[in-house]
Amino acid sequence: MKTRSTILVLIFTCLLFNLFAQGTDSDKILKSFHSISSHELLGFAKELSSEKYAGRLSGSPEYLEVAKWCAGKFEAWGIKAANKGSYFQYFKNEFSEVKSLGSVVYFNGTEKMFLEFPGDYLPGSNSASGNVEAELVYVGYGITAPELDYDDYKNVDVEGKIIILESGIPYSKNDPTMVKWTPYAYHREKFRNAVKHGAAGMIYASKIANPNTINLDGFIYAHVDAKVVEQIFTDAGKNYKAVKAQLKNMKVASFVLPAQQKIFIRAETEYFPEAQSCNVVGLIEGSDPGLKDEVLIIGGHLDGQGQMGEVVFPGALDNASGVSDILGAAKALANSEVKPKRSILFILIGGEECGLYGAKQYCNKPLFPIEKTKMMINLDMVGNGTGFFVTGAKTHTQLFKHFEEANNNFIHRKISTSEVRKNYGRPRSDASIFEDAGIKTFGLWTQGSVHPVYYHHPMDKINVLTPGIMEDAAKLLYIGVLGVANDTDL
Ligand SMILES: [Zn+2]
Repeated sequence: MKTRSTILVLIFTCLLFNLFAQGTDSDKILKSFHSISSHELLGFAKELSSEKYAGRLSGSPEYLEVAKWCAGKFEAWGIKAANKGSYFQYFKNEFSEVKSLGSVVYFNGTEKMFLEFPGDYLPGSNSASGNVEAELVYVGYGITAPELDYDDYKNVDVEGKIIILESGIPYSKNDPTMVKWTPYAYHREKFRNAVKHGAAGMIYASKIANPNTINLDGFIYAHVDAKVVEQIFTDAGKNYKAVKAQLKNMKVASFVLPAQQKIFIRAETEYFPEAQSCNVVGLIEGSDPGLKDEVLIIGGHLDGQGQMGEVVFPGALDNASGVSDILGAAKALANSEVKPKRSILFILIGGEECGLYGAKQYCNKPLFPIEKTKMMINLDMVGNGTGFFVTGAKTHTQLFKHFEEANNNFIHRKISTSEVRKNYGRPRSDASIFEDAGIKTFGLWTQGSVHPVYYHHPMDKINVLTPGIMEDAAKLLYIGVLGVANDTDL
């Protein structure tokens, strides 16, 4: 009898203690949760987008400065240097400095049209420096693929001419049959092919600032708005929309424009072929001796499109927003009284805009074994909207439930989800590099834009951000990642 009552008292005490422990744990978690403030996150985004970092072009001295600033934050919060005592993981990252806006002038045979920045044209991020003036040849996608029996150059001579080039390949959908075309989807491949055919210059009918290109000796180019290309076509007696439709049907549509139509391009750049860039890597070591060898990664690209002449591309949404959200979550996780059992690695990724260099560097030289890396969540453009979109959520449901619960209990935003999106074309995000390396990956984005989205444009400024959603993104990361880190059923 005595033994039975002792056992009962013991069980009761255990239950009480357990309840008490649970209560304090959620109190502790909520304390860190509420420490995340939109005001502070907006302050981070302001710093990252500020003129002194010149648009964070990967490889540039200003990028290395902003990387140092981020490492300083990690250090101040007690987040450890994750690469053998260093916060930096370096890699080669050539880049070009665009020293002035240059100019683009179109002559239709009777009058000159001086194109305006940024409405009509943007300088080529990797244009060679100099002037070019020549007649025009339209080359569609600019693809020469003998094995696919396709050649945009087969009926035209572009020697010494300025080509008009389209981005992409003759597919718009993410289709498995696209795979054989993928090698031709890269801007670099198109540029090399143009030079191989003797083109003297190029106007790219894809008007975004784009460092994901290549600097080729003497090859001068600029990005031109579709409405200008349409005007050039009209002057040549052609229908631009009809020609583009023909291209989509995989029919070569190249033609030489009338000789009186000419383009003049002036570009002023300096090429740095041996430049280096880096990822910024910080670690919170797991508190559980049995689980600390397992790692969760929170990442997002730190780099942007840089500066053209005096004009900075602040990259506030793309991706100062994502980095600021990560910093907010990092600080909360570092200060959290409930410690993560698994380790958490933060990677602020470099070279994304130049061709996913930083993500490839990490996956080729991972700081922790890939098989011990339980998850990667990638943030890109997470700061303008009213809800979230998470790719991979429908694939990695066991991991995602922690984020779903966090949202249902504390955040209450609309979250749309998808499977991992198998990428048959040119990989376009850091997330796809990690997923291909064998790591379960989520891509976190905001949706329901409140402000216009100025993609790769000088207007991507701090005022396009909605700080409330940034705060919630950081909160979602904090609770969701802590949940995964401490899930002993994984
Ligand atoms: Zn981005």
